[in-house]
Amino acid sequence: MQDQNFIDGHWRSAHSGKTFAVCDAATGEELARVPQSGALEAVDAINAADNAFHGWSTLSPSKRASFLTLIAQGMRERKTEFAQIMTAECGKPLDEAQGEVDYGADYFLSAADEANRLQSESIPSRRADRALNAIPEPIGIVGAITPWNFPLAMLARKTAPALAVGCTQVVKPAELTPLTALAFAQLLHDVGLPAGVVNVITGDPSSIGQAWLSDGRVRKLSFTGSTAVGRLLMKSAAEQVVRLSLELGGHAPFIVFSDADVSAAVVAAVNGKFRVAGQTCVCPNRFIVAEDVYEQFVSQFAAMAKELRVGRGRDAGVRIGPLIDDRAITRIRNQIKDAVSHGAKIVTGGETVHVEGCLDRFFAPTVLANASTEMLCFREETFGPLAPIAKFETESQAIEMANDTPFGLAGYIFSRDQNALQRVSRQLNCGIVGVNTGVISDAYAPFGGRGWSGFGREGGRWGIEEYISWKYVCAAVNG
Ligand code: ADP
Repeated sequence: MQDQNFIDGHWRSAHSGKTFAVCDAATGEELARVPQSGALEAVDAINAADNAFHGWSTLSPSKRASFLTLIAQGMRERKTEFAQIMTAECGKPLDEAQGEVDYGADYFLSAADEANRLQSESIPSRRADRALNAIPEPIGIVGAITPWNFPLAMLARKTAPALAVGCTQVVKPAELTPLTALAFAQLLHDVGLPAGVVNVITGDPSSIGQAWLSDGRVRKLSFTGSTAVGRLLMKSAAEQVVRLSLELGGHAPFIVFSDADVSAAVVAAVNGKFRVAGQTCVCPNRFIVAEDVYEQFVSQFAAMAKELRVGRGRDAGVRIGPLIDDRAITRIRNQIKDAVSHGAKIVTGGETVHVEGCLDRFFAPTVLANASTEMLCFREETFGPLAPIAKFETESQAIEMANDTPFGLAGYIFSRDQNALQRVSRQLNCGIVGVNTGVISDAYAPFGGRGWSGFGREGGRWGIEEYISWKYVCAAVNG
């Protein structure tokens, strides 16, 4: 297992020699120690990315595309290794972790396609005496700060487009899950990616982030994480006018209309809600269900949720792993307590589950009936296996409830009426809409949010655009 920084193609400790522990999310047992880096290592990483920039950015796009394809192949070949590391450090079930490897590899395949399509564009001018061209140039050195819930996929969706365009990169993974990123760095090394093109350092988020944003050579930062940290980064980015992509918190509504296929909606709800134990930014966070089908939805949903096996991610059949830390347990407990005090009813779950030999971090999949908009769980992101279900009467009421939030990442709607689906999709104020499905992620599509959920898109050609600085060349034509 790799446990050092990857800078300029070499494995290095922090200058101070200091390290911090990375622990198994289920048991708390130490898995490894990794460098406690700060500003010094952050600048080392920039220096390496700076030295590599000329060579990488002038390589032909098709050559860069072949590296991307090799990386995708390598990810698939090492699927078991990556999945085992992710399950250990973030706790998710092994089959979800394996799915994440495929999903991450798709970002590289998608970016390889896009690299091959990168072209200058000639613009028809209304004036005969000028020739206009738009040239896609890499924005420069880019930073990536990634979260713990998808340690590989969130890195892949930042690294793949950056490399496709010709940028070089400095990466800081989440402190809780750096081992996946270091294993990924090992893969980059093994496929022969030139030294310095991607540099991965672990350590103190605030000093590393500050060092990158104040340096002037880092021209873009792509961040996935909390809205609170996104705001901080946005302020710091102002100093050097660094371009940002921010994928922040979500608070997704899941609307079930009375003409929906309720059983299919329940399956989608369970799959969407309980992935990574409810710790994804696109998880349905608020269920808004038509009164005619309310009882049916609640009882079927609770019955399915109750059957989900809670346990260590590595054990066969487990659907709900541990929550990431004690704060997550406190937050879900508080939300349940608040909801019950406002009249909600716990239909299933509501408490932690003891798992032999593990930390007290496992929470039963929980379904709350009689939820309403004044409850905390309807106002704040839960990031845990809690499904509060409220009732609505009219379509406009459902839309109003769904849009009653400053967040705008994902939304889900279930109906058999195509006109209603079109109408409601247009009115939802969010970046992604799932129509009769609870799982929407796709490496070829534009993923991203609005409002407090951030801005910028990841995936497909939209993800590529984030790393391009278009140069417009206006040339005089004589004669
Ligand atoms: P979460 O609450 O989901 O852990 P965070 O926003 O705290 O989300 O973390 C997401 C990523 O942001 C992690 O890599 C974390 O280390 C990093 N991070 C946290 N605080 C800062 C900061 N002040 N500056 C830069 N990065 C930060």
